[in-house]
Amino acid sequence: TTSPSANWSYPTSIRFGAGRIKELARAATAAGISRPLFVTDPGLAGLPITAAALDVLKEAGMEAQLFSQVQPNPVSANVAAGVAAYKAGGHDGVIAFGGGSALDAGKCIAFMTGQTRPIWDFEDVGDWWKRADADGIAPIVAVPTTAGTGSEVGRAGVVTNEETHTKKVIFHPLMLPKIVICDPELTVGMPPAITAGTGMDALAHCLEAYCAPSYHPMSEGIAIEGMRLVKEALPRAYKDGSDIEARAHMMSAAAMGATAFQKGLGGIHALSHPVGALYNTHHGLTNAVFMPYVLVHNRSAIEGKMGRLAAFLELPQTGFNGFLAWVMEMRSNLRIPNTIAELGIDGEKADLIAEMAVVDPTAGGNPIELTTQGARAIFDAALTGK
Ligand code: NAD
Repeated sequence: TTSPSANWSYPTSIRFGAGRIKELARAATAAGISRPLFVTDPGLAGLPITAAALDVLKEAGMEAQLFSQVQPNPVSANVAAGVAAYKAGGHDGVIAFGGGSALDAGKCIAFMTGQTRPIWDFEDVGDWWKRADADGIAPIVAVPTTAGTGSEVGRAGVVTNEETHTKKVIFHPLMLPKIVICDPELTVGMPPAITAGTGMDALAHCLEAYCAPSYHPMSEGIAIEGMRLVKEALPRAYKDGSDIEARAHMMSAAAMGATAFQKGLGGIHALSHPVGALYNTHHGLTNAVFMPYVLVHNRSAIEGKMGRLAAFLELPQTGFNGFLAWVMEMRSNLRIPNTIAELGIDGEKADLIAEMAVVDPTAGGNPIELTTQGARAIFDAALTGK
């Protein structure tokens, strides 16, 4: 026998609980921040939860500047504008407040304040992150307001290159937020459709991490408990947004998914990234549509694992088919479309998407090798529903 060898990394300090946004100023101080740039998106900028978070800082005498030029699926121009605002305002750290878009943008802004190379030099490829000037990375406090991406516990930010229409994962270990506040009350006002899409993102992270072939039993343990929480809580949070226990479980599941996916992701993400970059679709929703088609494609390699998972989740039907049936039922209960055609996508760019999918950094985690033909077959199945 041989002893496996792997690198495992665990996230940051998380202050978890309803109402803990009140600790925002203390968390910033603990992270070494006294003049934060508060990064969020335009939709959130107008919501009471944002005003309340800014009030916490004000009451503590902390001068924060609001920066909200972050679009869904952020582009590099958003990061550049944030870096300019950070420097002009003499800030000493970033509070990233929002969904994955605002969190990723905030993390990349904090990272890029200290870099001289262009952002694309830090794509998650090999050890490109070692090119960075690690001294220049500003401290980050992250506050998620959706429960899906888990970006708050991640060391990467997803940024779209607006010139090449590609989604790039920008990575540096120090991009991990120093302190996270997970306050489920912030997610209570999320509309059902965003609750559904982001919640399915958490499921996609746990599922692909669980199925990825690398050696990481700790991640697998986290992933299956994350999926159990999604099973219990997502239908409840969707039906009644004010169910605070369900919101809390979903916030945990999101952080667990992103903790687990250091083990690897797979075909769902490899296809969802190019589709999101080319069509600006919501990431979690796109993952949810692709999920059953990728499961079926990978069936031969994951049959045994799915059996264990279906048993752990106490699903009504056993085995691979039982898990697939549960995914289909969950999708339909959450009113998630069955095909990418219903997201407004046609077959025009099918070949390009298949080519982009196989070079996406997440493709390597797929349980069977993702070939261009395989990616094309998944795309076609997801387009037609067959
Ligand atoms: P999002 O951040 O794009 O937000 C979606 C919408 O929800 C926005 O309009 C926003 O204003 C609104 N919103 C957010 N919180 C709300 C609240 N509490 N109440 C009402 N409205 C609210 O969506 P997301 O799914 O959280 O993030 C998607 C982005 O994250 C994509 O760019 C994706 O590629 C990226 N992502 C990153 C990672 C990572 O590891 N860093 C992982 C997965 C996805």
